[in-house]
Amino acid sequence: MRQCFDVIIIGAGIAGCATAIALLQQLSGLSVLLLERRSSTPSSFRIGETLPPQAMAPLQQLGLQEQFRMRGDIASLGNRAIWGSPQISENLFLYSYYGHGWHIDRASFDSWMAQQAEQAGAIILNGAAVTGIPVYDQQCWHLNIQQNNNTAHNLEASIVVDASGAGASFSRNRNVHIESFDKLIGIFRHYQTTDNTDSTVKDTDSYTLVESCSYGWWYSAGLPHGRRVVALMTDSDLARNANLLNETVWRDVLINTHHTNQRFVHAESLSALQVKPAHSQRLEQFCGPGWYAAGDAASTFDPLSSLGMYKALRHGLLAAYAIRDDLLNKPGASEKYQHVLNAEFKHYQHMHRQYYRLEQRFSNAPFWQRRQRHMPEERFPETRSLPTT
Ligand SMILES: Cc1cc2nc3c(=O)[nH]c(=O)nc-3n(C[C@H](O)[C@H](O)[C@H](O)COP(=O)(O)OP(=O)(O)OC[C@H]3O[C@@H](n4cnc5c(N)ncnc54)[C@H](O)[C@@H]3O)c2cc1C
Repeated sequence: MRQCFDVIIIGAGIAGCATAIALLQQLSGLSVLLLERRSSTPSSFRIGETLPPQAMAPLQQLGLQEQFRMRGDIASLGNRAIWGSPQISENLFLYSYYGHGWHIDRASFDSWMAQQAEQAGAIILNGAAVTGIPVYDQQCWHLNIQQNNNTAHNLEASIVVDASGAGASFSRNRNVHIESFDKLIGIFRHYQTTDNTDSTVKDTDSYTLVESCSYGWWYSAGLPHGRRVVALMTDSDLARNANLLNETVWRDVLINTHHTNQRFVHAESLSALQVKPAHSQRLEQFCGPGWYAAGDAASTFDPLSSLGMYKALRHGLLAAYAIRDDLLNKPGASEKYQHVLNAEFKHYQHMHRQYYRLEQRFSNAPFWQRRQRHMPEERFPETRSLPTT
């Protein structure tokens, strides 16, 4: 394998693959390497499955619109929420410019993105991770890579992209400060429906259902092949204190919901309970000399926003434009990138506060008190309602 690359991207998730595809679209002949910690075998269950309608815009820009439509993901017609009142409210995607969204099989979508990056000309090294601290020396990065715990590579690159997800391994190693805003986690499980004949079941699967409770909120969604996912979103310390990671306790809380439980009457569990951090965080700095952070490595959003995958695709495009300008010696690229991601995060925080304030029924519960503390109002030129997961 060659040792020198124009760009090395750490993490072949959505942000990493989108960055690679967009770069190779703009500068063909560029050498782009994606380092992926996971082996090439996709894991069967991965969380994060609702792709909102606006995700079609970056997919279109990446030239993936037609191939994406051919994947056969299921249409997501909107969100139903029990939030702020016991009544169900609906937010239909019907009125969105891009039409409906999608409920995707996340493991298969991530593999598909990796295939698209390879077809665009990127090289993917699976089972590979950076060891030690990368050194930047006279406009060139030096990285030590370990592959499958036995092969070592010493690689060089003009630019490194941190697309390693919320762990932000490259930025963390370089001591970039990570600001965390809460302790949200998702405790989730996948199910297989056992009754596919009931048309109400099928209709329900076209919607994401969000239901608040004193511990936080539940979300559930239909997935391709008659699968469903259900997650309880709460804070890590509250989960520990209430023993919510215990299967029986978690199931009891699910049974006590008013609407979410009904989706799982005719369903068999496919996996044990799994836990994923879901807190909001951001890097103090999104880029620096010779490096950019994209997707969850740069900032993470509460899954309530349902914007994580859209943001990963968008960051991929933005990072690629900035890197193109850097490689062509056009000034100001990193300043623009920093500015756009700063504005995006501020806007997100504003919408996040607005949305959590709508639920006042559990104002004595710590989960809600933490999110409803008085914060100084900010003014934003444009506001849009934060879509639910
Ligand atoms: C409970 C939950 C529910 C969610 N629901 C939704 C939803 O419905 N809709 C939505 O849009 N978003 C959702 N999200 C968010 C969404 O999943 C993320 O925003 C999205 O995955 C970010 O993509 P990414 O490519 O930036 O990071 P990731 O998907 O995390 O990809 C990072 C990649 O980097 C690799 N990696 C990590 N470290 C290294 C390393 N050191 N070296 C090499 N490779 C490395 C990882 O293996 C991974 O493949 C949810 C998140 C959670 C936690």
